[in-house]
Amino acid sequence: MSELSAHAINLVNCGIIGVDSSLQIVLWNTWMVPRSGQSAARVRGQSLFDVFPELRGSRVESAVQAALKNGVAANVPQSQSSAPFPLREAGQFDGARIDQAVSVTPFNEGKERFCLIEIRDISGVFERERRLLDHAESLRARSYVDGLTGIANRRYFDVALDRELRRAQRLGSELSLLLMDIDTFKLYNDHFGHLKGDACLATVAQSLAAMLKRPADVAARYGGEEFAAILPNTSAEQARVHANLIREQVASLGVPQAPGAARAHVTLSIGVASFDKALRNAAAAMIEAADQALYAAKRAGRDQVMVAADPAR
Ligand code: GH3
Ligand code: MG
Ligand code: MG
Repeated sequence: MSELSAHAINLVNCGIIGVDSSLQIVLWNTWMVPRSGQSAARVRGQSLFDVFPELRGSRVESAVQAALKNGVAANVPQSQSSAPFPLREAGQFDGARIDQAVSVTPFNEGKERFCLIEIRDISGVFERERRLLDHAESLRARSYVDGLTGIANRRYFDVALDRELRRAQRLGSELSLLLMDIDTFKLYNDHFGHLKGDACLATVAQSLAAMLKRPADVAARYGGEEFAAILPNTSAEQARVHANLIREQVASLGVPQAPGAARAHVTLSIGVASFDKALRNAAAAMIEAADQALYAAKRAGRDQVMVAADPAR
């Protein structure tokens, strides 16, 4: 080997081992030295499997044998071990092994066949991957999207209702809130099972979201089988009309209900409450009023819309 290529091989940031057709080590680059604790002079001329007896019978051995015998290059699969060679961070003799990606490449020099083994340190890759997963997890935890239905979640609803209330207060504009609850959903779950129940929630949520067309409208999953809609610039009367359209739309999906339910298909009850400068000017008061209207809709037989009375002054 020319001096130039020998120099280059020693600068490469991965382990390089060359073996001849009788598995004797002919190449051992500088990267290998501190990680294996063995110098090139010490291992050169020894059999690869005398230097690393634990590799006998491993996927590394099969890959090297196949390279020498059949001339096939291969990446050694990591299914068996992510650290086949006993290599550690430079200078650590009893630390954890570094994770490795190993590949073998046969090559001919004159009549003889050799095999080049490359070992890459991928510990950092695993670590990065884990950090990315953690990051994605925390983004989800902090996100504004409900994982099951894909519409806004309760966290987003709270932020949006606060924002719209302040806007209505400031501009003296109208604002309505709808609270919706699937009727006798417990029967549905008991009859069809929780998975179908989840699918039903997603279907209803999508249908609800499709009914809210203004950019400032918000459809959210309020919790369990309850949904909420925030309708800026909408009076109580307009909200009643819109709530009835939503109720009819969900009914018209014709999602079969469990036997024993009042209707043959899935239905919604809806409570409506509207902003009032003096008395319904905070989220808690709006939600309380809509919830009472929803409860009244349930008592009146479900599958209907109730509007909270004008607050008494
Ligand atoms: P009502 O008409 O009075 O609303 O009757 P209901 O059966 O819908 O009311 P209840 O509050 O007793 O039951 C709500 C059911 O919704 C019970 C619960 O198992 C189910 N549920 C809540 N969240 C989920 C969910 O995420 N997935 C599924 N599949 N079911 C849910
Ligand atoms: Mg409920
Ligand atoms: Mg319900």
